[in-house]
Amino acid sequence: MKNNDIIDRIKVDIEGSSKELAELCSKLVQFPTVVPPGYTRECVEFIESYFRSLGIETEVHERRKDKSNICVKVPGNRGGKILWLGHLDVVPEGSEPWKYPPFSGKIMEGLVYGRGSSDMKGACASAMVAAKVLASLEETERSSVEFWFTCDEEVGAVDGARWLAESGRLKGDICIIGDSSGGMPSEPSMDLGCKGALRVTLKARGKTAHGSQPYLGDNAIEKLIDAIGYVKKIGSFRLNVPEELEPILKTSIEFLMKHYELTESQRAEVMKVFHYPSVSLNIIRGGVKINVVPDAAEALFDIRITPGADIEAVKRRILELLKASGLEGIDAEFEVTGFGGYYEKPDLVYVNSLKRAVELVTGRTPILKIITGGTDGIFTRKIAGIPSLGFGAGLPGMAHSRDEYVTVESMIMAAKVYAIYPVIFNAP
Ligand SMILES: [Zn+2]
Repeated sequence: MKNNDIIDRIKVDIEGSSKELAELCSKLVQFPTVVPPGYTRECVEFIESYFRSLGIETEVHERRKDKSNICVKVPGNRGGKILWLGHLDVVPEGSEPWKYPPFSGKIMEGLVYGRGSSDMKGACASAMVAAKVLASLEETERSSVEFWFTCDEEVGAVDGARWLAESGRLKGDICIIGDSSGGMPSEPSMDLGCKGALRVTLKARGKTAHGSQPYLGDNAIEKLIDAIGYVKKIGSFRLNVPEELEPILKTSIEFLMKHYELTESQRAEVMKVFHYPSVSLNIIRGGVKINVVPDAAEALFDIRITPGADIEAVKRRILELLKASGLEGIDAEFEVTGFGGYYEKPDLVYVNSLKRAVELVTGRTPILKIITGGTDGIFTRKIAGIPSLGFGAGLPGMAHSRDEYVTVESMIMAAKVYAIYPVIFNAP
């Protein structure tokens, strides 16, 4: 068959699978793969049996019992090898009541509800259907694809993508990360990368004393509160982001402006979110007893930095700010997580071919963006060394929210893109 005919056939097949897509997503949601502990064994067994009945090869990989990952193999001989990677674990449902029970997988008027539907069992269902449709083609009509469904993404991927990458299991020319919230056929978007994080632990030391005679002590909590203000100043430290990333940062900001309901001051923050570090003080510890002057206290900051910007310069600036404060007994410890983030060059050949696949499906050119949070792409890119691009079925603002849902329309779109990409892929 000619490429155009194959593409048309894929589209027709997937449109005919919309009921199956909704049901698969619903089924996946019904496995409560909540982290912690994030056991994915049963969910993986469901995926395994789906492909067994189709005669498609799978492999289960476990570093720890019941923390299962599964690889679905669709070989092809058009050259090159594509990985698709998505996660099966979900965050807890929270304490507020849901419109429908969070693990019911309720299907309603073109939507599938439930924890993990948008982040990201919807895209996992899309990948399952895409694998099925791809496997029905001739081997000469597609490049090789491995679909990886992983555990642990929400908790650092220790038994999931990180381990799979470190142990050499992930090999390919390009990796499509299904964990992406650009999943609307009317306004598609692709992710070129994500931010990294600098975690700062600010420690204050003082001297303990009786609470009735505070002047005899040196109050570590009060000192910490003063020091916190100096660390927060890093939020107005201009980052030296790579020039080639500027157009992408512009569209990334437009995306956030458009898809979130923001107040005036939130909009001002979004305008700064890629050119300045974002700073969030998320944990404070200190004090032992109401009548004791505390001699130790600490504050933990989550600081996110645009990929390609100089993290060392940010650390240096924080130390300078603290020094300039004149406060004594204050120390800062740093930890870079997510390897400082990553981005793919906008002119990379794989970016163009994925863009093309999205265009063939939606009739629209996807916008390119950098995302503020981290994904498994960090491990496929930074450990396995595979260029990694995000495209999924998730809806903006849905991840981790109450009454989370995904649309069947988005799942159809993602399934088509996942199945068409290996047909138009230019092998290296
Ligand atoms: Zn996710």
